[in-house]
Amino acid sequence: MTVKEMVWDLAPLVKSTDPASVQKKLASMVAEAERVRENYHWKIDSLHAKGLRELLEVKDAFSLTFEGVMMYCGLMYAADATFDEAKQLNDAARRASMKVGQALAFIDIEVGKLLLDTPSLVEDPVLAEYRHYLERLLRSVPHQLSETEERVIIVKDKNGVSAWQLLQSDWLSTRTFNIKIAGEMKTLPYGRIIGFNQSRDRDLRRRAHQVVYEGLGEDKLIWASAIRAVCADHLQMCALRKYPTPMTQSLIANDVGQQTIDSLMKTIERHVGLYQRYLRLKARLMGVAKLANYDVVAPLPQAPEKDYTWKASRKEVVDAYRGFDKQLGGWVDEMFEKRRIDGEVRRGKRSGAFCSSWFAGKSAYILQSFNEKMGDVYTQAHELGHAVHAYLGSRAQKPSNYEIGSCIAECGSIFGELLVTERLLSKAETVEEKQAILANVLDQFGMAAFQVSARVFFEQSLYDAIEKGVFLDGETVSEMWTAARDKIYGDTVDWLNVMKWEWTMKPHYYMANYRFYNYPYVFAQLFVFALYKLYQEQEAAFVPKLKNLLAAGSSKSPRDLSAELGFDITSEIFWEKGMKQAEEFINALEETL
Ligand SMILES: [Zn+2]
Repeated sequence: MTVKEMVWDLAPLVKSTDPASVQKKLASMVAEAERVRENYHWKIDSLHAKGLRELLEVKDAFSLTFEGVMMYCGLMYAADATFDEAKQLNDAARRASMKVGQALAFIDIEVGKLLLDTPSLVEDPVLAEYRHYLERLLRSVPHQLSETEERVIIVKDKNGVSAWQLLQSDWLSTRTFNIKIAGEMKTLPYGRIIGFNQSRDRDLRRRAHQVVYEGLGEDKLIWASAIRAVCADHLQMCALRKYPTPMTQSLIANDVGQQTIDSLMKTIERHVGLYQRYLRLKARLMGVAKLANYDVVAPLPQAPEKDYTWKASRKEVVDAYRGFDKQLGGWVDEMFEKRRIDGEVRRGKRSGAFCSSWFAGKSAYILQSFNEKMGDVYTQAHELGHAVHAYLGSRAQKPSNYEIGSCIAECGSIFGELLVTERLLSKAETVEEKQAILANVLDQFGMAAFQVSARVFFEQSLYDAIEKGVFLDGETVSEMWTAARDKIYGDTVDWLNVMKWEWTMKPHYYMANYRFYNYPYVFAQLFVFALYKLYQEQEAAFVPKLKNLLAAGSSKSPRDLSAELGFDITSEIFWEKGMKQAEEFINALEETL
């Protein structure tokens, strides 16, 4: 049965949904890119401020014109990968986008050279709107290679790091595991069996973890070969591109400085005791002497099992945003009203959830599989936070100023989750319900701020080891993972021995050209907790501040955005503020005992 209101309407993205017309639009996109190339290739070095602004405006107009058709193809495929028309259109869109990428690759390279020769352009009032965009570009120029070299690297990556990434994900998704459920032996793929992490049956959780990680450990040769190649490739690219540290590339991409991340990670290290306090408290709530690894994010056994219909979830989420600000609440409601959310559960649909900004439509599209659980309400609130970000950003910025680094990209979404928490807490009827809500917030916080920090330490230790000439076989990598993990968890958790293979299944470690994907999550989590603390203190006066921050897109650096709120993100004192908010949630949970 299809509940129409749970299925998104993609028609507004294109003039006509006729596949032939969509294909035609894709072809015109490639032709337009070629035209831009003809007009500007090799001519950028002679541009003055006005000419450069015209070029950037052409680039922005290009992305606005073709954003809809690209989204249409990609989203239709995400909604149902078994639908032939979607498969064909998605494939056509990917091929077209690769051609566009190749045709327009010269822009950044040539504008970069121009800025290097004439740095004063960055400050030119004619280019005021693009100032931070140009600043970011200038920061990346010293690490760019020639156009020929960049093209060779694209080819090298395709059969190198990208192939390792593909092997890891294909291998993982095709593993199956045998597990006894209610007396019956079942063979389940990885994607299904990990669902038991959230089961209320503790023994089932234990068995599921045991069988999965034992199985993954058997393929240690594959995982280790992949991670070794991806990390070694990164170090060699760092040398070639003259990045001083393995983290530099990601710092530039995320528009943050080393000092900021150092302060952030030091704050985490100094507060592992706070997280461990929560883990001990959770053990008490679960009625166990000590948490096992399969309890860390499991639901509390006494948590009430409450279901939320699509309608009920809509009401909670819309009201939560509306309570914060009428305009934001209105936009969130519009996302439902105009059917911009695909919530229906169906075969062939991409797992997980995401939000795609639709800049030209000053809106967004969201995909999730809505199963009527509290977690689904939170996912909805999270993704709608991204949507709100897009509503604000697309009204205030040009597309070039909406290339938001991961540190800021998660602000609206995590803040939205806190608004829902606040609302659910105020309506909680029993102590158990209140405990379930608080434990959920703290579980998420613990994972994003602390567990992900272990991954930062782990990744760094991989590069250190390679540089020292250590050969990374499976067992060696596992030792590094457990060392990083124990730095965070101390002795508060009993780990199954097979959990040393936990690193094998995290796709991010293997993603090509996506090193240190991790610390932005730590940043965002603590940053939003700090913002939330400010909201508690300033109430209504805080609302326009958050809206300004989101509306700024990438037109300012995270450091400047925070400075406007009176924060200095390079100092540990700021990050303490986020920890203080976590402490308040832990105190509130403790008070329920
Ligand atoms: Zn998100």
